[in-house]
Amino acid sequence: MSLFGEVPQATPVAVFKLSNDFKEDPNPKKVNLGVGAYRTDEGQPWVLPVVKKVEKIIVEDNSLNHEYLPILGLPEFRSSASKIALGEDSPAIQENRVGAVQCLGGTGALKMGAEFLRRWYNGNDNTKTPVYVSAPTWENHNAVFANAGFEDVRPYKYWDAEKRGLDLDGFLGDLESAPKHSIFVLHACAHNPTGTDPTHVEWMQVAEVMKRRKLFVFFDSAYQGFASGCLDKDAWAVRYFVTQGFEMFCAQSFSKNFGLYNERVGNLTIVARDSDNLKRVLSQMEKIVRVTWSNPPSQGARLVAITLNTPELFAEWLTAGSGTPGTHTTHTADRHSFTGLNPKQVQYMIKERSIYLMASGRINMCGLTTKNIDYVAESIHETVV
Ligand code: PMP
Repeated sequence: MSLFGEVPQATPVAVFKLSNDFKEDPNPKKVNLGVGAYRTDEGQPWVLPVVKKVEKIIVEDNSLNHEYLPILGLPEFRSSASKIALGEDSPAIQENRVGAVQCLGGTGALKMGAEFLRRWYNGNDNTKTPVYVSAPTWENHNAVFANAGFEDVRPYKYWDAEKRGLDLDGFLGDLESAPKHSIFVLHACAHNPTGTDPTHVEWMQVAEVMKRRKLFVFFDSAYQGFASGCLDKDAWAVRYFVTQGFEMFCAQSFSKNFGLYNERVGNLTIVARDSDNLKRVLSQMEKIVRVTWSNPPSQGARLVAITLNTPELFAEWLTAGSGTPGTHTTHTADRHSFTGLNPKQVQYMIKERSIYLMASGRINMCGLTTKNIDYVAESIHETVV
């Protein structure tokens, strides 16, 4: 009898299972609309030319080595990443109250933020503090916060299926009724999976309630540059909240906008009341990183830092990487789109047409090419009628 005889089989992670099923499908017309990764018109993975260029720079730079990085990560990566989120001339940065932790992808940044908040937020043991995630949201939000010890992860109203748009009244209502100091995970832009973001005026309403009701803002910024094609526009909400005086976290992922999925490049930007608070927060972050991954990896962080800190490379990245505004469908403004297909129709698309998409009906525009778009459109038509 094995010591592992009682281990139950866990369910596979949906989006990765979809990719595996896609790989194994022999149909030459197959299309993967599940995972959001840069693709060529032939549907093959695409490495940004600027990334290749910087990889060469790194290889040829004899001053670089493989010594451990500081526990909190590469300083020039952390500061340049925070600047991308908050803006070059952010007063909070000038006031020395912004710090960061280099993390393993956006997921790592959410994890570090969650672990810190559970231990230290508002001076309490926070296992009972409610954490609100949007309904629907990226599936991992629930689990990351629950796994960090938050026992009360709840949905807040976000998507109005009938209207096929934001349920602003529901959203504001949930903010109004949330217990004081509850934590809210907000998608900075390009909401996953609905592709629907609040307008500026709607964000201002959200901020007003959150400030009045003393709610904690935890931005998840995984798609900066993808909603509008402009880094600054996509950071509008994050920056607005900073102007409103919030102390907050922003988990940043460079997986998508640099196409560096497997390098695990993320950053947790922390905006504190002042530099003294920031210093103590970072000292505790160091403790949490130490027992989690001890020190972060350097390659992806170097790549991003060199690109962001070198004007020509930065300009090249802006045009090649983030300057690709996503395709639009009804009420959505980015790479994700809710097709409105129900789970049965999704199954039909997968089984009969070899078009792979999430059971929720969400598709990722990255998988659409000039070569398959007609086939996808025809197939959706056939499935619906
Ligand atoms: N947040 C959201 C909303 C996401 O969609 C993703 C990636 N799918 C992440 C965070 C995590 O990104 P990473 O791969 O960098 O961990």
